[in-house]
Formats: sequence, structure tokens, C-alpha cells
Amino acid sequence: MSKQDAITDWVHCPLCGSKTRNKIREDTVLKNYPLYCPKCKQEVLVEAKELQVIVIKEPDA
Ligand SMILES: [Zn+2]
Repeated sequence: MSKQDAITDWVHCPLCGSKTRNKIREDTVLKNYPLYCPKCKQEVLVEAKELQVIVIKEPDA
């Protein structure tokens, strides 16, 4: 098994569930990442670990 065969997945918007244009790997760790959703047309501050995306701060309504 090669280490390069890590699982990658599209990051889905935690607000609307849409696919964003960002990809993460199973070993990707994000912290305070401004994830842009083309459907919501706004950024959401998230963190990600083991392909799980967690919202840190939702944008003001
Ligand atoms: Zn969205």
C-alpha cells in the first residue's frame, strides 16, 4: 500500500450540504479555514479532521 493512495473527498458545505470546490484528504487537518460555498456565496469558518468538517463560526445572517 502506498501512502499516496490516501482517501480524498470533496468538502461539503456544512450549511447547505452542497459540494464546494475544496478537497481534503483523510489525513488533512484544517483549522480556522474559511471555506467558501458557491451556493451560499459566503465563507464559513471551519475546521476539518479525518474527513469531518466542523463549523467554528457561522456567518452573520
Ligand atoms: Zn452552502
